[in-house]
Amino acid sequence: MASHLGHFLSFYILYILFPHLNPIALFIASQLPDLDYVQGYVLALMRKKGIFGSYTLLEPKSMHTLLWAALFLLPLGIVFTVIISLVLSVPYALPSIVSSVIIGLSIHLLIDLPGHRNLPLFRPFKDFPQNPVLFRYKFSFLRLDDTHAREWSYIIVADTILAISAIAVTILKQ
Ligand SMILES: [Zn+2]
Repeated sequence: MASHLGHFLSFYILYILFPHLNPIALFIASQLPDLDYVQGYVLALMRKKGIFGSYTLLEPKSMHTLLWAALFLLPLGIVFTVIISLVLSVPYALPSIVSSVIIGLSIHLLIDLPGHRNLPLFRPFKDFPQNPVLFRYKFSFLRLDDTHAREWSYIIVADTILAISAIAVTILKQ
């Protein structure tokens, strides 16, 4: 996974590079799969463990599968975008919304691939309890067990690359 900030940066980069995409749809879709964590955040707060302490203890589930992305998150993203566009009185075109949601969801799932200890993408057809493409490197200052250290190392690396890319596209587009 990347962090929520990382996924926001991926939305920003895509929108700068492809301004014809629908920004509302793209933003919503870039965050939607992390609905997986809402339940975990609520539980973590109730147990007073704090969101950051529990961040990588939470496992991606249904929302990080292609099946749920197609059957649930895609229509949800479209409906959310249309409602927000109507509330804000922003003109919208359905084909642009659909393609923007598909791109946003795909990029989210793709960025997350090397960062989760399990790989739920193909559930229920195929399951990988051990992610075969889990990030290999781990920073030595992370005093965590092997898998968590690799997950956090990936978050740091992915967010850094996304932040540098966001700065680069901002400068290049001026
Ligand atoms: Zn995610």
